Amino acid sequence: MSVTVSNVTVCATCGVEHATRPRVCAICADERQWVPTDGQRWTTLDELARAGAGIEFTDLEPGLWGLTVTPALVGIGQQSKLLVTPAGSLLWDPPAFVDDDAVAGVLDRAGAPGVVAVAASHPHMFGVQLEWSRRLGSPVPVLVSRADLDWVARPGPELAAWEGDRQVLPGVTLTQPGGHFPGSAVAHWAGGAGGRGVLLSGDTIFANPDRVSVSFMRSYPNRIPLSGRVAQRVAAHVARFSFERLYGNFDGVIPRDARDVVVRSARRHREWTDGAHDHLT
Ligand SMILES: [Zn+2]
Ligand SMILES: [Zn+2]
Repeated sequence: MSVTVSNVTVCATCGVEHATRPRVCAICADERQWVPTDGQRWTTLDELARAGAGIEFTDLEPGLWGLTVTPALVGIGQQSKLLVTPAGSLLWDPPAFVDDDAVAGVLDRAGAPGVVAVAASHPHMFGVQLEWSRRLGSPVPVLVSRADLDWVARPGPELAAWEGDRQVLPGVTLTQPGGHFPGSAVAHWAGGAGGRGVLLSGDTIFANPDRVSVSFMRSYPNRIPLSGRVAQRVAAHVARFSFERLYGNFDGVIPRDARDVVVRSARRHREWTDGAHDHLT
């Protein structure tokens, strides 16, 4: 059971921490998300803990864990990732909940080098990033894409703006293809998939349920497309890296040939947006 929780305010719908309680959460009110029909709902880490929230860890592959808030009391059902390397760990797309058990679960799996950075792929996945940072050690930087800094609703000195490519650990590189948000980022892990490479793609590249294709959208829930040109720009950006497998920020995964899948899917996207298949409609 949870012991220490702080009374941090969290938007119940998107799971993003807030320093204040505005009338409505800006992330949910944006055209990419939604505000529930019964209106804005705020909660706190205390309240979530009392309701029985916890973090469930899923073993995805050697060195990679999925973290899910269970039961799903907050957020949109995203799966955070803990990437563990001998040199240290990265908490990617941090969960919308944290308590002592969750911190212990992360630190146990991270081992002696600990967590070196907390980073979200984009504002929908900020979760309670500052709270995680403060509980994990002293200090764990929270890396936020410079282009998306204005979406931060709970600032703190732990936040560090970044852009371009950033190596956070040997063989682990954050990079910003943009698209879904101007600063939308992915994490490339050269040692993943038995050394063939893994891409943690957030919402920048969405792993489709067929497991052999991906999508590129400004909004997934509200179905706002990106142009074919941007889809191909995003694909070309990540194709600089080699990766066999791709994990999205839910439980979607492209198990093999993921780099080729991304390039092929972007080409298909462009064909459709350019009208090459209009005779099928
Ligand atoms: Zn929200
Ligand atoms: Zn998103």
